[in-house]
Amino acid sequence: MRKNIREKKKKILLVEDSRLTALVVAEYLNKNGYETEIVTTGEEAVQKISGGFPPDLVLMDIELAGEMDGIEAARKIIKLRNIPVVFLTANTSEEIIEKIKEVRAYGFVLKNTDKAVLLSTVEMAIKLHEANTHARMFEWLFENSLNELYVFHPKSLKFVTVNRAARRNLGYTIEELKTMTPLDLKPELDLQSFRELLNPLVSGEQEQIQFNTVHRRKDGSLYPVEINLQLFDYEGEKLCMALVVDLTERKQLEEEKRRKEDQQRLMLEAIPSPAWLVSRERRILAQNKAAVSLFETKVGDYCWKRVLSGGNLPDKYREAIEKSGSPLPGTKCYFCRADEAFDRNEPLNSEVELSGTIWDTWWIPLGEDIFLHYANDVTKYKKMEEELRSLSVTDVLTNAYNRRYFIQKLEEEIERARRNGNKFSLVMLDIDRFKSINDRFGHNAGDLVLKRIAEMIKNRIRKIDILVRWGGEEFIILLPDTTVKNAARLAEELRVNLSRMDIPGVGRVTASFGVVSYCLGDTVDSLVNKVDNMMYEAKAAGRNSVRELIECE
Ligand code: GH3
Ligand code: MG
Ligand code: MG
Repeated sequence: MRKNIREKKKKILLVEDSRLTALVVAEYLNKNGYETEIVTTGEEAVQKISGGFPPDLVLMDIELAGEMDGIEAARKIIKLRNIPVVFLTANTSEEIIEKIKEVRAYGFVLKNTDKAVLLSTVEMAIKLHEANTHARMFEWLFENSLNELYVFHPKSLKFVTVNRAARRNLGYTIEELKTMTPLDLKPELDLQSFRELLNPLVSGEQEQIQFNTVHRRKDGSLYPVEINLQLFDYEGEKLCMALVVDLTERKQLEEEKRRKEDQQRLMLEAIPSPAWLVSRERRILAQNKAAVSLFETKVGDYCWKRVLSGGNLPDKYREAIEKSGSPLPGTKCYFCRADEAFDRNEPLNSEVELSGTIWDTWWIPLGEDIFLHYANDVTKYKKMEEELRSLSVTDVLTNAYNRRYFIQKLEEEIERARRNGNKFSLVMLDIDRFKSINDRFGHNAGDLVLKRIAEMIKNRIRKIDILVRWGGEEFIILLPDTTVKNAARLAEELRVNLSRMDIPGVGRVTASFGVVSYCLGDTVDSLVNKVDNMMYEAKAAGRNSVRELIECE
C-alpha cells in the first residue's frame, strides 16, 4: 500500500545552495504530495540526472556555489534527458529572462514568492511536460507510420500535413503538398465527385468512408490505393485524416496467385485421369474435371477419410498416410477401391490405383506441402493379370492345375507338414486302356473323356484340394489335412462314380487309383514315385481298382 502511494508521488530535484531556502521549499512541496531531493551544486544535479532514478522535474537555483551555474546545469540536464526545468531566482533582469528562454525551461519562480505560485508553477510545468511528451509521441507516430497519412481541410481541401511515407511515395516535398489538394493526386476524381464522396462524412452520416482509387506521383506514375477517411476536431475546426494503403504489392500478389491457380488448373486438366491437389491436412485444394465426374469430390473436402477410420488398406499405407497426411510421397502407393479413399456413396465398379507424389511447391503461394494424387482405372489390367495368372497355372483342356503349380503347392504342403505335422495325401489316377478309347472313338472323344473326368472330380473334392493334370491321361489330387484312409475312401468313391458315368459317344470308362500320404522325409519326387507305384499296383491287380500305401516305412 505504502509502496503504491510512493510510486505515484512525483519526484522533484531541488538544486539550491542556500540550505535554508532549500529546506523551506522542500518541506512545502513534501506537504503537498511531492517527493524531494536536495543537491547544492550544478555538477551534482547533472550527475543525479544521469543516474538510475531521474526526477520528474528539476527546480533550479540560478546562482550556485560550484563552478557551474544553474543555467549551464539546466542546459546539460535538458540535453541529457527529457526532464522539465523550472528556475528559482531572486533576480528577474532581462539578461536572466533571456537565458531562461534560451535553455527552453518551463518558466521561473521568484524566491520568497507566494508558495501557492511555486506550487502551481511546478504542477503546470509537470502537466505541460507530459502533454508535450504525448504530442511528440503522436507526432512521431504520424510522421513515421509506414502507411501513408494525409490531413486536409474538408472544405478548402488544402493539405495541412502529409507524413513521410506519403511524401516518399509521391515524390513531393511538404512545402509542395501544402499548396495542393487530394484532387491533385487523384486523376480519377473531379471536384464534384470528391465532394460527393466526402458528403456522408461532412454531414455526420458516416464516421468513416473507404474507397479505392489511384494516386499519381510527381513523376506522373500511378499506383492503386485504398483510402480510409475520418474527420477529427482540431482547434475548433474539423479536419480530415486520410489513411492511404498502397495496393501495388497486394494487387501484384493477387495477380500472381490468380496466375498460379490458372497454371494449377491447366496442369491438373492435362492429366487424363482423376487428379487432386491435397494439403497435408488431407483437404482437397484443387481437382480436375475427371475427378469430379468420377468421384464426386469437392474442393475443401477431406479425402482418405474412410481409409483413416479403418478402411481395408494394407497397414503400411495407412501408417504412411497417417504420418505424412497422404500416401507415400513420390511412390505408387496402393491399390484400393477409390470409394474407400474418397468416402464415395455408391461403390465404384472399377478397381482404381491411387498414386501420390509431393507437388513441387515453389510456385504455389501456399506455405505448406502439397500432394498430387491421381487415380488410374486398372480394372482392365487387373482382369488381364488374373487371366494370365490363371493361364500360367492351369491346363487348357481340362482346366485342372498344371504340373508347375502342383509342384509348387506340393512343396508348400511338405514344408507345412514338416513344421506342423499336418497330414496330407495324394491320389493318382490313370485311365484304363485309354489308348483304345482314342483308337475306337477318335482323339476328340478321348479329349471329352479327359474333360468329363476332370469336371466330375472337381465337383466332388473340396475347395482346398488341388486337381492336377499330371500327364496325358493321368491326374493327381493333392488333399491337405487328409489321412491315407480318408484319401482311399475318396478314391474309391471316385472310382465307382467314374465307372458309372456314361460319356456321350464313348460309354463307360474306368481308371486305376494309387493313394499315399506324407511320411517324414518325403520329397516331391519320393511322393510322386510312391503314388505312381501304388497306381501301377492297381493296374496290375486288374485295373478299375484302388491301392493305398498304409504304413510309412
Ligand atoms: P493303361 O490301362 O495301361 O493305362 O493303358 P493306356 O492305353 O491307358 O496306357 P498308355 O499309356 O499306353 O496310353 C495312354 C494314351 O493316352 C496314349 C495317348 O495317345 C493318350 N493321350 C495322352 N494325352 C492325350 C490327350 O490329351 N488326348 C487324347 N485324346 N489322348 C491322349
Ligand atoms: Mg498312362
Ligand atoms: Mg492309362
